Amino acid sequence: MKAPKLKGRQRIEWEKVLNPEQFRILRERGTEPAFTGRYLDEKERGVYICAGCKEAGEETQLFRSGSKYDSGTGWPSFSRAIRGALETRIEEDGRTEVSCGNCDGHLGHVFDDGPAPTHKRFCINSRAIYLKGEDGTIMPGKQLSEQDITRRSRESLYKGLSRMFDF
Ligand SMILES: [Zn+2]
Repeated sequence: MKAPKLKGRQRIEWEKVLNPEQFRILRERGTEPAFTGRYLDEKERGVYICAGCKEAGEETQLFRSGSKYDSGTGWPSFSRAIRGALETRIEEDGRTEVSCGNCDGHLGHVFDDGPAPTHKRFCINSRAIYLKGEDGTIMPGKQLSEQDITRRSRESLYKGLSRMFDF
């Protein structure tokens, strides 16, 4: 990977190019509410790139669409990242933060409960990434309706509880 170019960029510079939701996630380590991301159910082929780098005029490829799977958690999930694209850091609460190696933007977290063979679950905010389709265009994804967000959140909570209490 080429030397990171966007690290150390000033906050005010990011404010100019990111929308408020992107800024809150990428630069302030925010998390989008579960099931609200546009790439949650995305099945199109291509490569997911960093939204921060893209808005700053660079392209950093993070995940291939082939590694995306439905974790049921409410966030786009990937079983592996493109080699050398990410940096990780252990947070105070023990979770492992995942950020872009080129711009330092917060993307999400990685957990050890993903599918074989990697057993990794990269749990990534939709607002921190863009899907670049095979023809090179950016795919917009699709936001769930309010009703679907509520329904899917309930189902996810139920599944989590049933796993926890074995019912
Ligand atoms: Zn980036």
